[in-house]
Amino acid sequence: MMPGLAAFDMDGTLIQGRLVFALADRFGLSGRVTEIQSSGMPGHEQTKAIAALFEGLTKKDVQDAIESIPLVKNCEQAIAKLKENGCKIGIISDSYTVAAGSVADRLQLDFVAANELEIIGNKITGKVGMPLGWEQIGCFCKISVCKRYHLEKFAHKFGVPIENTLAIGDTKSDICMVQRAGVGIAFMPKDAEIAKATNKIIRDSDLLKVLEFAA
Ligand SMILES: [Zn+2]
Repeated sequence: MMPGLAAFDMDGTLIQGRLVFALADRFGLSGRVTEIQSSGMPGHEQTKAIAALFEGLTKKDVQDAIESIPLVKNCEQAIAKLKENGCKIGIISDSYTVAAGSVADRLQLDFVAANELEIIGNKITGKVGMPLGWEQIGCFCKISVCKRYHLEKFAHKFGVPIENTLAIGDTKSDICMVQRAGVGIAFMPKDAEIAKATNKIIRDSDLLKVLEFAA
């Protein structure tokens, strides 16, 4: 099936790293990020706590961090192949719009959903606007950006039946969209949960492999 719409996770799927870690590394905040991520708090509360750590940094700090992370191998080629077939392509990420938007611009994608860092006078305030979505559809994920909700939203917007969508991600935060999409792929799975969520798994760090599931 050549998909009519493809939703990509960003961190670890389109890019070879995680924006939050790259940003935290630059400012000596990695320990505190790890602490929050192992706290057992619901995902959306972790997102708030992590955003608060970045108070006082600038938009440029985030842009420099995202630009320091290379794209995954054959990212541009895979996107080009999907585009050739008229596929709408976007990013659904629980990272930040300022980062996901810059990757989407670079790849000339059609849509982005991510968290919105509040930036006033070029400074990050530490507040974050979270799109959520799980509370509207009863999704189990309870993370800052329910990927299933946004997959359904963009499929509806572009008039693509959900059976004709493709979703790809690398962690448990992607499970709800990977299970909902017509073709759901785990890419270089980083946890056991996402690897168990689908039988379509790519274990080479090469995005052209996605086309094997979309031919
Ligand atoms: Zn969800």
